[in-house]
Amino acid sequence: MKADVVVIGAGPGGMAAAWAAAKTGAETLLVERYGFCGGMATTGIIGSILGHYLNEKEPAVAGFLKVLVEKMAVLGGCEKWENAFKKYGISFDSEILKYAAEQVLLEAGVKFLYHSYFLSANVNSGMINHIEVVNKSGKMKIEGKFFIDATGDADVAYFSGFECTKGRPQDGRTESMGCIFKIAGIDEDRLTDDVVKQAKEKLLKLRSTGQLKIFNEGLGGKGSTIRKGERSFNMTRFAGDATDPITLTQAEISLRQETFKIYNFFKENVPGFENSYISAFHINAGIRETRQIKGLYTLTEQDVIEGRKTDDSIARCTYWIDIHCPFGRTINAHLCYKECQTPDYCIMLDKYKDYLPSKDKLHPPANDWFSIPARCLIPEKAKNLFVAGRCISADHKAMGATRVMATCMATGDAAGTMAASCIEEKCDAQSVPVKKVQQNIIHIGGLY
Ligand SMILES: Cc1cc2nc3c(=O)[nH]c(=O)nc-3n(C[C@H](O)[C@H](O)[C@H](O)COP(=O)(O)OP(=O)(O)OC[C@H]3O[C@@H](n4cnc5c(N)ncnc54)[C@H](O)[C@@H]3O)c2cc1C
Repeated sequence: MKADVVVIGAGPGGMAAAWAAAKTGAETLLVERYGFCGGMATTGIIGSILGHYLNEKEPAVAGFLKVLVEKMAVLGGCEKWENAFKKYGISFDSEILKYAAEQVLLEAGVKFLYHSYFLSANVNSGMINHIEVVNKSGKMKIEGKFFIDATGDADVAYFSGFECTKGRPQDGRTESMGCIFKIAGIDEDRLTDDVVKQAKEKLLKLRSTGQLKIFNEGLGGKGSTIRKGERSFNMTRFAGDATDPITLTQAEISLRQETFKIYNFFKENVPGFENSYISAFHINAGIRETRQIKGLYTLTEQDVIEGRKTDDSIARCTYWIDIHCPFGRTINAHLCYKECQTPDYCIMLDKYKDYLPSKDKLHPPANDWFSIPARCLIPEKAKNLFVAGRCISADHKAMGATRVMATCMATGDAAGTMAASCIEEKCDAQSVPVKKVQQNIIHIGGLY
C-alpha cells in the first residue's frame, strides 16, 4: 500500500492527524490495530474530553474536535458545539464516537487500514522508506512520503531508532494505568444527597481497610456516556510499564476484577443500583503514560505553569499537571506532588522532593493557555516523521497536562498539517515551514 501521509494509530491524536492531512490536500491512510477509531476514547471508554476549555467565549481547541463534536451532536451523541466548548469537559457517547469519527474521516477523504499492527520501519539516515504492519495476511509493506506516529506509545519512533524517554527521570516510573467502566440501569432519581453521602462514607471505609482499591469515592458521571441511567466511573489504578506485555496483561485482569468488586458494592449497598448492570468494560486498559519522543524541544513544567507562548506554536493547551500516582497508590495519594500525604514510603518524597510539582502550581495562568511548539512533534534527526497525541516531546510533568484528548487532537491537527505542508513545500521534517503550517491550521479551522 502507498499514501502521501501514513498515520499510525486512530486515537484522538491520529484521527485528527489523518483528518488534517487530508483536509490540507494529502492522500492519507490511517492504520489502526483495532477495527474502529477513538483510541482511549473508545477502547478505554475515557471521557469527558478535556483540554479545550478556555472561557465561555472562545475555545482553546477547535479543528477536528469541533467537526467531530458537530457530527456526534447530529447523531445524538453529545451536545452541540456552541454549548459543548463552554463546558470544562465534553461528555459524549463512546459508541456514537466510533461511528461519527469514521464518517468525518471518510468525508475528508481518508483511507483506512484496520486490524493492522505496526511492526517495524525501514529507515535510512533518518528517512523512513516504508513501514511494515502485521495482520491476517502476514506482513504488509506500506510506503509513504510522511509518517505520523499517533500510537500513544511512540511505537513508530521507538522502533525506527529515534530516541525516546519513558517516565520520570529518577526511576522511569510512569503515571498509573486505570480503567473506566460504565454501569447502566441506575435509577438516578434515587441518588439523593443523603444516598450519595452514605455511599461515599462506605466507600472510604472499604478503601481504608484495603477492601476496595479506589482513588476516589465518587458515584460516576456523564463522561463517556450521556444516557440517563448510565454513568461512567473512573476509580481504579494499576501501576506499571504498559509497554511490557506481561505487566499490561496483569493490568487488564486486575482492573476488570476491581471493576466487578466496585460494581458489586454499588449494587448491594446503594439505593438506585438494584437493577443496574455493567454496560461496558474497557477493551484496552487505560494507559496514561509510556514513551515520549525526544524532540527538537521538550515541553516543561515551567512552560505549563507560566502559560508560555512560542513563535512556532502549533496548538494550545489549557490543561494542568495531573499526575496519577506512579506507584498506583490510592490511600491519601490522589495526585503526585510535593504535598502528597501517602502513609507509605515514597522515594520521590524522600530523595527527590525538589523535582515534584507543588500542589498550588499545577495550572496554567487563569483564563490562559500555553503553546505546544512545532518542535515537540519532530523527533530529533527524523526526516519524514512527526508525532501526535500523548507521546509528543514533553517531560513527565508537562505530559501530565498535554495528555488529555482535546490537546491530543490539537497536536493531531498540527501533525497532519505539518506533513501535508512539507509535501507541498518539498521540504523535510527538520525544516518544516512553520508559518505555512500555522496558515494551514487556521485554514482547516484549527487554533494555535
Ligand atoms: C484512566 C484514564 C482516564 C483518563 N481521563 C481522561 C479524561 O477524562 N479526559 C481526557 O481528555 N483524557 C483523559 N485521559 C487521557 C487520554 O485518554 C489519552 O491520553 C489520550 O486518549 C491519548 O490519545 P492518543 O491519540 O495519543 O493515544 P490513544 O488514545 O492511546 O490512541 C492510540 C491509538 O493507536 C493505536 N495503536 C497503538 N499502537 C499501535 C500499533 N503498534 N499499531 C497500530 N495501531 C496502534 C491504538 O489502538 C489507539 O487506537 C485518561 C486516560 C486514562 C488512562
